[in-house]
Amino acid sequence: MRAHGRITPSVTGRHSRTSPVTAARSVVGRLGPRPDGTVPFSIEFNPPRDAAGEDRLWRAAREFECMHPAFASVTYGAGGSTRDRTVRLTGRLAQETTLLTVAHLTAVDHSIAELRSIVGAYADAGIHNLLVLRGDPPGDPLGEWHRHPEGVEYAEELVRLVRGLGNFHVGVASFPRGHHRSPDLDYDTRHLIAKLRAGAEYSITQMFFEADDYLRLRDRVAAADPVEGAKPIIPELMPITSLRTVQRAEELSGRPLPAALRERLERAAGNDPEGNRAAVRAVGIEIATELGQRLIAEGAPCLHFITLNFAKATGEVLANLGYTVRPAAVGA
Ligand SMILES: Cc1cc2nc3c(=O)[nH]c(=O)nc-3n(C[C@H](O)[C@H](O)[C@H](O)COP(=O)(O)OP(=O)(O)OC[C@H]3O[C@@H](n4cnc5c(N)ncnc54)[C@H](O)[C@@H]3O)c2cc1C
Repeated sequence: MRAHGRITPSVTGRHSRTSPVTAARSVVGRLGPRPDGTVPFSIEFNPPRDAAGEDRLWRAAREFECMHPAFASVTYGAGGSTRDRTVRLTGRLAQETTLLTVAHLTAVDHSIAELRSIVGAYADAGIHNLLVLRGDPPGDPLGEWHRHPEGVEYAEELVRLVRGLGNFHVGVASFPRGHHRSPDLDYDTRHLIAKLRAGAEYSITQMFFEADDYLRLRDRVAAADPVEGAKPIIPELMPITSLRTVQRAEELSGRPLPAALRERLERAAGNDPEGNRAAVRAVGIEIATELGQRLIAEGAPCLHFITLNFAKATGEVLANLGYTVRPAAVGA
């Protein structure tokens, strides 16, 4: 790990000594059609809070390995000890599985020296793909943002920092309906393009419920800058598996669930949501399948699934979309 200067992947990592950074080890290098012609898919994990959660994550990781996702990303949260655990866990996924691991990195409460050091820790673990984000104020995502006195203000600066540290493949966040701090969509598009021009190779969207929102984002970026607009915009999906996950989905998308989708789930729940859990879940899987079908038909380069560290729901959606899925993945 180093505090300054470029981190040379060829000398920092166990993996990097044996496997040079090639296109096949980058997210964009994994976005061509799969051998069976299907569109690539990818998965997102969250750092678990306890040993049981860690077991669950590893079980999911092993199931997903058999389905050959293009990559697996691991989110980055607030708080010192959580962060140390995240860096360790993400490193282990890179070293102990065949998954191309993408580490999320946020600027929250970090000085530039700390950010350099975390990037160095990732490089040491053989991770050269980073999803670079500003992050939200801890505790209240909508609260006032305070830059660390020796940190960065926007994700764009963090993209430049990471790119300046070595041969890293960088992705950024994009927002189909605009980021909640953007006063309008033109502003939002301009700053997304600035992140791409700073060296990001692709973006992953905030999760959304309606395919048209994704298509409009893609059109906006392409119209504003055809060069940057040609970079992949990877849509993020989350299968809803219960009325409780609706709330999580709304938090992650920053929007209420569209009324028509809510009605479908509520109809399945009837007046006995507990007793009708399986029916609610089936509708949630159906909704994610329909979204996936439309995104594939519209040429999305990859489908990125928020998994909440479970393989089953994502496996079911993939099976519905025609992917070959091991029976254990959908029956576990
Ligand atoms: C796919 C995905 C994964 C995520 N993973 C995580 C995670 O692991 N951990 C986590 O804490 N959060 C995560 N987030 C949430 C993310 O950190 C927040 O949405 C955050 O508020 C925005 O981050 P950003 O990188 O888009 O910020 P920025 O790109 O910095 O944008 C923030 C706001 O500032 C504006 N802006 C940008 N640059 C400028 C500029 N130069 N001048 C003026 N305005 C500007 C933008 O338009 C936007 O309104 C994720 C989001 C997505 C979509």
